[in-house]
Amino acid sequence: MTAQIITQKVAVGISACLYNCPVRYNGRAFDALALLGRERADFVWTPVCPECLAGLGVPRMPVHLTGTGQEVLAGSAKVLDRRGRDHTEAIVAGCEAAISALERAGVEAFLAKEASPSCGLYKARVGRKRTETAGGSGVFGAMLLERGWFLIPDEGLANSLLWWDWRRRLHAWLWLKRRPAETNRDLYDSWHVVKFVVQETNRPRADAMGRALAALPKHPAPEELAALRTEMLDALRAPSTRPRIRGAMLKAYAHARKKGSLAGVDLHDLEMDALSERSRIDEVVHDLVGLERVSFENDLLFGPSPVIRRDARRVAARQLESESAND
Ligand code: SF4
Repeated sequence: MTAQIITQKVAVGISACLYNCPVRYNGRAFDALALLGRERADFVWTPVCPECLAGLGVPRMPVHLTGTGQEVLAGSAKVLDRRGRDHTEAIVAGCEAAISALERAGVEAFLAKEASPSCGLYKARVGRKRTETAGGSGVFGAMLLERGWFLIPDEGLANSLLWWDWRRRLHAWLWLKRRPAETNRDLYDSWHVVKFVVQETNRPRADAMGRALAALPKHPAPEELAALRTEMLDALRAPSTRPRIRGAMLKAYAHARKKGSLAGVDLHDLEMDALSERSRIDEVVHDLVGLERVSFENDLLFGPSPVIRRDARRVAARQLESESAND
């Protein structure tokens, strides 16, 4: 199956400290996007710092949560600094301001600094004492989770393998979100494109989705179709594990080498060595991303990513080439 193409630059919100903005409580920052290299230009980034928008300056005293972000939003927990001063109201206001900015930017995906009491998604330190380590959502993380956006913890940028998996699922998620879901056929066709990514991460979930689609009545209610599509979107958002991603990637790599379909094709800078000669997984990732590009340029039936992004001008040029070849 050739990959589906999206052409728009994907709007992604990002914790400002990951975007190399020195907004952390101690004035530090992380250049988390360095891993992406030139690929970072495929996205439109909107950095926000909820704590700065709360009016807390840099440097500032770090804050901690007495309960989860959800409990803070429900009014049953607080955000305190080391001296016990209550910043709950300001932090909630800062998080709301950040959400408003992201909505104005048309963002549907967010790259979050995990473990922060504000931006953390699942691992913020939560507890009565600052030193407690029970994991939960930060206040901003809790707001993000409510919105159903595509959320990526910064651990997703720990290496090129993890990022490759997050990116392909983000692109598939955005493509699926924009697809119609008005008939059974719409859903079957969409599922056919994205299902192998879900199968790799969670086979029982993928099988259950297949059964649910097969059991649809001939004329299902719109709510039934919408619920199934929501389940597909949720399944695409669920992270995979390193061994599974690696396994899927190596399988795709070996398949591409073996098939012989690359004979006579301009591979640009790709060498496609045997796996035994590829000691580093990031070299395999580099080759696979390159192969996705080569496959697009040559209409080849290859692609471990069901949906890839290509610049609109390249897509138009490719269409012209195909049309003139068919004349
Ligand atoms: S509030 Fe978020 S963006 Fe600001 S410093 Fe903390 S983790 Fe980074």
